[in-house]
Amino acid sequence: MGEMAIYDSHVHSKNSFDGHDTVEAICESAIRAGLAAVTFTDHCETYLGEGACLAVKEALWEDVSRARETFGEALEISMGLEIGEPHRDMALSRELAGGPEIDFVIGSVHRVRGEDDFYFMDYDRPDIMDVFRKYYEEILELSECDCFDVMGHINYPLRAMSAEQTERTDLGVFDGLLRETLASLAAHGRGIEANSHCMKEGVGGILPSLEIMKMFRDSGGRIVTTGSDAHEASLVGAGIPEAEALLREAGFKEISFFKGRKPI
Ligand SMILES: [Zn+2]
Repeated sequence: MGEMAIYDSHVHSKNSFDGHDTVEAICESAIRAGLAAVTFTDHCETYLGEGACLAVKEALWEDVSRARETFGEALEISMGLEIGEPHRDMALSRELAGGPEIDFVIGSVHRVRGEDDFYFMDYDRPDIMDVFRKYYEEILELSECDCFDVMGHINYPLRAMSAEQTERTDLGVFDGLLRETLASLAAHGRGIEANSHCMKEGVGGILPSLEIMKMFRDSGGRIVTTGSDAHEASLVGAGIPEAEALLREAGFKEISFFKGRKPI
């Protein structure tokens, strides 16, 4: 395999959630773990409105600028954002994604219309398949948006499900919608990420699955990134080698890292 540079393009600092680690602590941990580059992608949930989202962007930019002065020689530090449901507020999303300081934007669906985050979902409710359908309809809608680079953690609902719930749920019925989404992303020159957040819990593993990565490649998709989606310093870079291995198995020869909204 030769020398391998580890890029972690999906990391969250305390600007995402109170009580999380600082950008400095995360950079120190990334250097200790031997990473070549990290992209901070703190959460901007559009439903929280412009004030809250812009505050996150400004605070992160201050943190990243300071961290570059301190750690810039040892670590490539990129400035990104993870925008939640950008298609529902395009004006705000374009404002967030704009500006020379932004290197990378992840577009994600965390909550479908009328529901809370999948993290808090009752997966035993009788209409759960309707909620899943809404998820696939909504990522298709998101795929058409011009304000992000890579779609975050496709199949996010799997992340909070138990092994037993995963076992009895046939998400295959939504393959048509998923295929359309992947083809739309590929056609627009956008990418997907191999998200290793669930490596620890075991359920879900790398999201999305090898099969879906292959589907993306077969649809003409070429841009892929790797991200730990770490919410604490000690997990930065966790699962990235496994995520890279899965992408290679799916036929991808290159893993992208974004600077100035361009994959390199
Ligand atoms: Zn997310």
